[in-house]
Amino acid sequence: MSETIPLINLPEPDAEPVPTVHYVPAYDGKKVYTRRAQGVFQRLRHYVSLPLLLAFFLLPWLSIDGRPAVYFDMGELKFYVLWGIFWPQDSILLAAILIMAAFSLLALTVWVGRVWCGFSCPQTLWTLMFIWIEDKCEGDRNQRIKLDKAPWSRQKLLKKFNKHSLWLLLSIFTAITFVAYFYNIHTLLDDILSLNVSVGGLVWIALFALMTYLNAGWLREQVCKHMCPYSRFQSAMYDDNTLLVAYDEGRGEGRGPRKPGTNYREQNLGDCIDCNWCVQVCPADIDIRDGLQAECINCGLCIDACDSVMEKMGYEKGLIRFSSVSGEPSALKRFLQPKMLAYCVVLLTMAATFTYSVTDRIPLQVDVIRDRGAHMFRDRNGYIENVYLVKLNNMMDHADTVFLTVRGDQPYKIRGNKPIYLEAGEIFTVAIRLVLKKELLTRSNEVVFIKAQSSASPEVAAEQKTVFMGPMVK
Ligand code: SF4
Ligand code: SF4
Repeated sequence: MSETIPLINLPEPDAEPVPTVHYVPAYDGKKVYTRRAQGVFQRLRHYVSLPLLLAFFLLPWLSIDGRPAVYFDMGELKFYVLWGIFWPQDSILLAAILIMAAFSLLALTVWVGRVWCGFSCPQTLWTLMFIWIEDKCEGDRNQRIKLDKAPWSRQKLLKKFNKHSLWLLLSIFTAITFVAYFYNIHTLLDDILSLNVSVGGLVWIALFALMTYLNAGWLREQVCKHMCPYSRFQSAMYDDNTLLVAYDEGRGEGRGPRKPGTNYREQNLGDCIDCNWCVQVCPADIDIRDGLQAECINCGLCIDACDSVMEKMGYEKGLIRFSSVSGEPSALKRFLQPKMLAYCVVLLTMAATFTYSVTDRIPLQVDVIRDRGAHMFRDRNGYIENVYLVKLNNMMDHADTVFLTVRGDQPYKIRGNKPIYLEAGEIFTVAIRLVLKKELLTRSNEVVFIKAQSSASPEVAAEQKTVFMGPMVK
């Protein structure tokens, strides 16, 4: 049994519904048969899920400038994302994307609760597709319950076989698509058709297919309840203005059936006819009339179900509705609160910094380190020599020859300067010797800039500041 913690006192009739919070109960092994829901929120789920699923399945097929639009080449450690090519050295950008995504999710949850879970989480989207297949193969909720209770027969076997075959097909298709983000889709398909896939590729496809089949076909809401870390800390993010799905207890109780046309108010009955539809459509298998529960993913399906019942009964819709503890109905006013605005400022700052870093990124890096073992040398021709280690990082998509030059207040030279050939993605360290005639030195240390420039694309150039040391100048 789940324990209930009331947040505040029960509301008066017609007041905003007040959420209460429950603990997640232990897994009881009960199979959930969800009823097909129809209504605004179910449609919204379809509108949101369709483009996301299309993007997932089609992106590996798209190419830009003859290369995949989104592709993580694990062999060459290159990451193609639209027009950009990133290397492991760019992992700071990946970390920034992950931090921004986590922060956006945090802000979204504070504002509108777990809508990510209810409308766009992959677990939700794949469960939606799997339930759709189940519905087509075995029928609606009542037919499925009846089928499971019925003894094994040819017809039952056929229905189960069809369902599991389609689930497996979808799981394999999903796994192949997922692996195609790391293994060129055309090569992968050729390898599959010629039975030539590497063992590693096969293991990943089998693993992802199995995980999809188990998570979306069998575990479903149990993943959200017991495995997803996000559902565990969501309640810590909620505040009084967070949008939650809540049952209007003041209006709905006492619940119970009634004869059509009777004055149910005189029988001390509320608007809830206790039809249980809100429970039957719930993918998390909870009864929202017991108060807000940590398992609720804000999908709104119980709202759709209850609204259709209210419509049939001729009652006002909204017995279950999106609400907040504060009761503020305006989404804009709930958004315009200091906490939300602070989140937005932080997010915008991060996004602006990230955009600047990506657009300003030069695909050639130079890092100069003075040789600390040697202060300076004096040669017999009257030159002062300093030694530096120059680390070059070619982050371009192609091999290139890079030239090193030096810039400073004096005519410095790089002794034995030669062009340096770099493979695509290569990091190469070279020792260089910088020289200057002693009589030209005006200070004991002078700032110099060492520049690396691509020969194929001269606009690709990077330089770094360092110091040229000389003897004390009187
Ligand atoms: S209680 Fe309602 S909103 Fe919450 S998960 Fe169940 S159906 Fe979705
Ligand atoms: S769907 Fe509405 S009327 Fe039916 S049990 Fe749920 S809250 Fe009551």
